[in-house]
Amino acid sequence: MIYTFTVGTRGSALAIAQTKQIIALMQQQNPDATFSIKIIQTKGDAITEIPLDKIGDKGLFVSEIEHQLLSGQIDIAIHSYKDLPSNITPGLIIAHPPARAPRQDALVLRDGTISSLDAIPRNATIATGSLRRKLQLLHHRPDLNVVPIRGNIDTRLKKLSDVDGIVIAAAGLARLDLAHKISYLFPEDILVPAAAQGAIAIQCRATDTTAIACANSISDSTTALEVSAERAFLSAIDGSCHIPVGATAHLIDDTMYLKAIFGNTTTFITHSAEAHVTTEIQAQALGIATARSVLAQINAPSHAGMVYLVGAGPGDPGLLTLKALECIQKADVIVYDKLANPAFLASAKPSCKLIDAGKVSANHTLTQDQINETLAANAQDDVVVTRLKGGDPYVFGRGAEEAEYLAERGIPFEVVPGITSAIGGLCYAGIPVTHRNFASSFHVITGHQKANSDTINWPALATVGGTLIFLMGIANLESICYNLITHGLATTTPAAIVTNATTPHQQIVIGTLATLTNIAKSNAVTSPGIIVVGDVVSLQNQLDFFTKKPLFGKTIVVTRARSQSSSLSTALADLGAHVIEAPAFSIEPHPDNLLATIKSIDSYDFIAFTSQNGVEIFFETLFASGLDARSLAHAQITAIGSATASKLQQYGIHADIIPPKANSESLLAVLESIVTPAHKLLLVTATNSRDLLLNLSCHVDKVCAYATVPATTMPSIAAADYITFTCSSAVENFMAISGNANIIAKTVSIGNVTSAALQKYGLSIDLQAATATIADLVDTIVNDV
Ligand code: SAH
Repeated sequence: MIYTFTVGTRGSALAIAQTKQIIALMQQQNPDATFSIKIIQTKGDAITEIPLDKIGDKGLFVSEIEHQLLSGQIDIAIHSYKDLPSNITPGLIIAHPPARAPRQDALVLRDGTISSLDAIPRNATIATGSLRRKLQLLHHRPDLNVVPIRGNIDTRLKKLSDVDGIVIAAAGLARLDLAHKISYLFPEDILVPAAAQGAIAIQCRATDTTAIACANSISDSTTALEVSAERAFLSAIDGSCHIPVGATAHLIDDTMYLKAIFGNTTTFITHSAEAHVTTEIQAQALGIATARSVLAQINAPSHAGMVYLVGAGPGDPGLLTLKALECIQKADVIVYDKLANPAFLASAKPSCKLIDAGKVSANHTLTQDQINETLAANAQDDVVVTRLKGGDPYVFGRGAEEAEYLAERGIPFEVVPGITSAIGGLCYAGIPVTHRNFASSFHVITGHQKANSDTINWPALATVGGTLIFLMGIANLESICYNLITHGLATTTPAAIVTNATTPHQQIVIGTLATLTNIAKSNAVTSPGIIVVGDVVSLQNQLDFFTKKPLFGKTIVVTRARSQSSSLSTALADLGAHVIEAPAFSIEPHPDNLLATIKSIDSYDFIAFTSQNGVEIFFETLFASGLDARSLAHAQITAIGSATASKLQQYGIHADIIPPKANSESLLAVLESIVTPAHKLLLVTATNSRDLLLNLSCHVDKVCAYATVPATTMPSIAAADYITFTCSSAVENFMAISGNANIIAKTVSIGNVTSAALQKYGLSIDLQAATATIADLVDTIVNDV
């Protein structure tokens, strides 16, 4: 039988050349058939000026041809496979493709060949019409100037007079016998080609079995499988020429290796996958799976953690900003310096990991590089890292370097400014940094320079007239004063050093530029200290408020029966005392006990919390299990005591039941009137708690979220001026830990019962409050000072 096929194609030189080559192949296999070529103009041929990615139409080069095929005006259509949209037009099929030509992209330079991407001259102008090529090129060579280009291969080659090079599919050049023009063939791992690049698609009507048989007579099984995988990826990812998308599959010994890229107008990701492939279905499955992985990567929530670079102020905990406190409270990891007041750490979550970066000059706990790495390494998987630094993070704290390090690695960070010692520290010493009559500017200068490099503009400082503030300068005090004098500042200029500013150990020495060095030596002044030079120093005595506080300079030990915060400590610290808290108990969290219970948390009708610690550890564990407060929605929440209830509120929970008295008996009485035997109650408590609630007439599960462990160590109290006792159990605890310590400090008792306990242990009672209240206890000490 003799068949006649009308073969439709675009009219470009390349389209005609490839159509002729395919017809020649089909002719070989079907000697009786005759073929005629019909040239069809497509929309893409008509619009030549607009870059392809700006024309919002898939199938730009095929629609008209497909239309004629469907209506029977042609029998076979031949396309560059990569021009076909990923969705197949109903009524048409694509035959198995013939062997594909080289699929890579090629670089054509004006002349010569190159052997690597690096050999393209710097800042060269390279033309390409495809976003896929542009973004990949710029990824490897950001210096290149990539410009758009359109038109058929001939027109493009002519544009070489305006640009340094153009990128074209190698297959196109080969088909036009222009392979010799290729200067460089991009390896596929540098420039992933378009799906099916280099392959030819032969399209027929789905019902035209003769045409299909003719087309399939020249098919190549490897190309068919590779193209299937690439096109399945393209279709599943819904890609087109308007976004960077590419795929290249290689079938080697029944294993298919697929590499794909996908992105948006500015960036892309690459993904590689492999599978055992012998059938078209398996090839398509690999393409679809690859697309899914790529989409999952794109849509995955960011797992980067967050780093807060936080200024903790000069030392006084009251000089911490609200935002800084928030960052301490929500931190999963805190990396802190020696300068930051360790008391801040008490506000951290029980589960928070504390890392001491302790930079005491020349005795670094961690090097700066290690600190940077520690911040970055911890900031993964939604972890909140708070980096606590003394004063303000950007004032000589190397905070800027830490921020730069994070920025370079794309790790999200925020900076929380702090009160710098340069201003706040001097303020607490009674020295304002500016004053209308004395100084209209202030200058903060490093007193610690890199070895052998004096970058300080001494002549400017000596004449500027403002307050000069040197940080990190104690070791160089003599040369600082010498430089200022030799550059013209009067030897009589007032100068001072404030050490441990804003803390109970704050000290100040005052002199002039001429005398300060000797005064500092005779007072054995040591770091950290602020050197301040200028007339504002003369205001110090009048404006000092901090060291004039009644208990300033006194060290007072507060003994405790429990580990909760103490209003006595706060009252004493407010009056300027250095407070040492001697804990009676420490809390040992046991989150493991909670884990299993939390898994079945929906089975409980009531959850009873007996302490703040229990609430904290419960919620920390709940969050760590990937749950949140919603998982308690069905249960009634009960809390013993208002402190426990307000801790619950911090986690967004209003307790449903708070018994009138803050003890287990009261809760038992309330619950007994509510529960039925069918109810289940979870009791979140401590290992050594009383088990009264187990008597409830319903099912009760007790879980020990933590243990209260008697403290075994006592902070050093040798330098203490006073030791306070507010109850007899505090006396007992104190004696249990410190034994028969020789107590030099004065003992202060709150009342008769406590005094009796002190006597029992043979301790003297130096002071006793007038009435057994905290206020009177504090007054007693103030009056004694
Ligand atoms: N970022 C910090 C400064 C870091 S450099 C800030 O803004 O305050 C460290 C130097 O700060 C110390 O050598 C000392 O000069 C000064 N400094 C910090 N805290 C201080 C304090 N409480 N008392 C005196 N000097 C202090």
